[in-house]
Amino acid sequence: MSCLFCKIIEGESPSTAVYQDELVYAFADINPKAPVHVLIVPREHIGSLSEADTGVAKRALLGHLLCVAAKIAREKGLANGYRVVVNTGPDAGQSVDHLHLHLLGGRGLSWPPG
Ligand code: 5GP
Ligand code: ZN
Repeated sequence: MSCLFCKIIEGESPSTAVYQDELVYAFADINPKAPVHVLIVPREHIGSLSEADTGVAKRALLGHLLCVAAKIAREKGLANGYRVVVNTGPDAGQSVDHLHLHLLGGRGLSWPPG
């Protein structure tokens, strides 16, 4: 298995778990860009958001990823706001080819992003 996030999900690479269920694993980003920076990934290897379609399975999984982001944000006390980011492809700077949501919060976040 060559995918870093698959290794993290399988426990072959260490991580700090924040949330997990049968579909999703969430863990602290190793290089946090905000006081709260959590990565939320599907256990299933999906390379990027580009692979998403509107089939029922993906619809349910991708919706669940967002709901997990909201749940973690509540648990982390991000009542003042937060941002969920899905970098997709080279122009967006995606550096790990396993679909992931960034949950960022705990400070003001400028807009637009770079
Ligand atoms: P991307 O640039 O693909 O949107 O986001 C990848 C994220 O994965 C980056 O924020 C980076 O800090 C994080 N990351 C890379 N390698 C590791 C690792 O080994 N462990 C953890 N926890 N995060 C990682
Ligand atoms: Zn993977």
